[in-house]
Amino acid sequence: MKPLAEARAEVLAAMPRLGCGPVDAGSSVGRVTAQPALAREYVPPFDNSAMDGFAVIATDVAQAPVTLKVIEDVAAGSVPVSTVVPGTAVRIMTGAPMPSGADAVVRVEDTEAVGTDEVTITVSAPALQDVRPRGGDTSPGDVVVDSGVRLTARHVSGLASAGLSPVVSDIPSVAVISTGDEVVPYATRDLAPGTIRDSNRVLLRAVLTELGVQIIDLGIVGDDPEELRSAYEDAASRADLVVSTGGVSMGDYDYVKQVLGDMGTVEFWKVAMQPGKPFAFGSINDVPLFGLPGNPVSSFVAFEQLVRPSILHMMGATNLLRTQIAGTMGEDVKTNPDRMVFLRAMLAQDSDGKFVAVKSGGQGSNMLSSLASADAFAVVPVGVGSLSAGDDVTLEMFRWPEGRRGDE
Ligand code: AMP
Ligand code: MG
Repeated sequence: MKPLAEARAEVLAAMPRLGCGPVDAGSSVGRVTAQPALAREYVPPFDNSAMDGFAVIATDVAQAPVTLKVIEDVAAGSVPVSTVVPGTAVRIMTGAPMPSGADAVVRVEDTEAVGTDEVTITVSAPALQDVRPRGGDTSPGDVVVDSGVRLTARHVSGLASAGLSPVVSDIPSVAVISTGDEVVPYATRDLAPGTIRDSNRVLLRAVLTELGVQIIDLGIVGDDPEELRSAYEDAASRADLVVSTGGVSMGDYDYVKQVLGDMGTVEFWKVAMQPGKPFAFGSINDVPLFGLPGNPVSSFVAFEQLVRPSILHMMGATNLLRTQIAGTMGEDVKTNPDRMVFLRAMLAQDSDGKFVAVKSGGQGSNMLSSLASADAFAVVPVGVGSLSAGDDVTLEMFRWPEGRRGDE
């Protein structure tokens, strides 16, 4: 059996890299930066007020209370014309440029109006108080977003404020194929005897959507060498990467091996993980191809551990794996010591705030109900055949348990 880390290193090394180009910040969520986005201008672009109040000279208000003459009003979006000199102040709104001469802002709550053109400052302000300096956020040359980052809403606002269009990797296209004579579209009204609904493709489509790739859905292909050949041919001619499920085991109708062997190069691996042991990896005309096991949870685990990192790597991402945290096993479990075991686990927090994992349901590789209720995989490494309640365990997170309510 091939250790998972070795299998992952091999598939990553075989991934082609995509091209890249600039995109509008507003359309860049989910894309991966291909180079650092460097600031070209100052953010904020000018010294401005952080508060509604009065722009003053700090030394002028050191002995508060002190009454000053109000020489101008400046709102956000306009530019002050006067210069603040001792004995004067400018009424200023949040975001408005600081007038020259002033070096601090006294918030309106710390003042009292005297008539219309005077103000009493009741609390002194040190220099720079409530002034947001030009470049206080970023200055030219600063890295706004590093390369290899999958952009989120939190990144794009920073890019937008700096006027930057990030250079991102092209979007890969990924073909998905379900194989199996027994597999029928999931929306089939009445299942004929011996058939099952296609749950793999809808799951793959969902995880691929989350990755922001372009999906080429080639549907269900029967256990027939000719049908398989033409589906793979079609997939390899149109996609940057091909994923199929089923047909990679030892069954009489598992034709994937024969067909792919004829068309390109393929290796069949027994990856030392559970679920998800049988795995085919190869290429047709330099297009990488992943053959995942048919059992739904096996295909999900194989996708998560080997395909998702490959797609992210292809897109130039630095972070390829889901977040792992240290947790505690909440019950005794027995696992296969020859394989890295991914237990579908539900989490609760103990009094120290540490996450405690128990199995979220049946662990059969066909059982999807426990996947839906899982917050994480509890990962039991090779060489460990059992864990007891209270033992340390690594948790590979899907969501924080509060996400179970539906807002993950
Ligand atoms: P295979 O890898 O083709 O031997 O399939 C292993 C198991 O997974 C069998 O019980 C199949 O019926 C099941 N299976 C294969 N493809 C799918 C699919 N697309 N959706 C749900 N179950 C599947
Ligand atoms: Mg099959």
